[in-house]
Amino acid sequence: MTRPDTLCSVTEVAPDAQELTEIRRHLHAHPELSFQEAQTSALVAERLKSWGYEVTTGIGGHGVVGTLRVGDGKRSIGIRADMDALPIHEQTGLPYASRHEGTMHACGHDGHTTTLLGAAQHIARTRRFNGTVNLIFQPAEEAGSNSGAEQMIAAGLFDRFPCDAIFGLHNHPGVPTGTFGFRSGPFMAACDTVYITIHGKSGHAARPHMTVDPVVVASALVMALQTVVSRNVDPTQTAVVTVGSIHAGEATNVIPEDAKLGLSVRSFSVEVRQLLEARIRQLVQSHAEAYGASATVEYIRGYPVLINSEHETELARQVAEELVGADHVIAPFPMVAGSEDFAFYLQERPGCFLRIGNGANTPMLHNAHYDYADENLVIGAAFWTRLVERFLGQNLD
Ligand code: ZN
Repeated sequence: MTRPDTLCSVTEVAPDAQELTEIRRHLHAHPELSFQEAQTSALVAERLKSWGYEVTTGIGGHGVVGTLRVGDGKRSIGIRADMDALPIHEQTGLPYASRHEGTMHACGHDGHTTTLLGAAQHIARTRRFNGTVNLIFQPAEEAGSNSGAEQMIAAGLFDRFPCDAIFGLHNHPGVPTGTFGFRSGPFMAACDTVYITIHGKSGHAARPHMTVDPVVVASALVMALQTVVSRNVDPTQTAVVTVGSIHAGEATNVIPEDAKLGLSVRSFSVEVRQLLEARIRQLVQSHAEAYGASATVEYIRGYPVLINSEHETELARQVAEELVGADHVIAPFPMVAGSEDFAFYLQERPGCFLRIGNGANTPMLHNAHYDYADENLVIGAAFWTRLVERFLGQNLD
């Protein structure tokens, strides 16, 4: 159905480079935090309308979907970009640095949004597909809980805008620009947060036999938690259990009433995620009991494991290889210990979340010196356009 000579190339989108760079730098200078993306989503909606998209706003907060139908094809594709910034004081010194004090696009969501806008413009201009394209501009990816993806799904995203599959990308510092990374199956970590309180019995430091010391319980527990990954998780799997905070007591001569621990727990499979929660809960209760204390556990499930479907990942990999050559495609790309709310979409639909290099020696994500690589705008827009053409097939009538 597809004719290779009519598929999108990088050179075809290249004339848009300056326009896209200007949009990206405008967004960079005007970042908005999670749940506050009013100006960004207004800009997105206005551009989409000008290119002939049917535009729906206010989906799950500031979410925007642009829909374009061509031909009589029944298939549909969703492509998502995130729009929010971070509470970081920018230190790049760039002429287009943030004008919103204390807020910064330090994760490149300005670039993801502009890349998808670039694709939107080119897709509408060329219309070489047969079916429905839904371009999903999502707020609040950085929220951690009740994020933009969850809220857009709860607002009926996939009922109102059916998608046979969904795709998204994230830039990746440490990898050359224009290089794509793909991994089928588990790709990014589930990230859970745990708050533990050990309830003891306070008293005088000189009379420990009349107290229940929560500091001793907490100390023993921290050591025991180290055995979850080393002794309970299958050695061929991987996980992280980090006790990032521990607080108890004020004075040297007082045994405190309680001790509090905060944990970050990461995993790459549903089974390991369940195992970690079960073992952590068991160890907390058994340690409290062993020392005559009691404990409460608040286990907060964050973003789930991000699992790419095989077929869609392979298609996306092929599209990248056709576009930039095998030398600029890494597959399988190493697993990423960060987490992403795109994982929620992949629980609903097959699809692929991929990486695009942001430069070999560039500041890491969430760093105050970070900046998105503008040369990726055209390459990314060409990638999305060609993926639409390959996924939906072409309208040959
Ligand atoms: Zn990000």
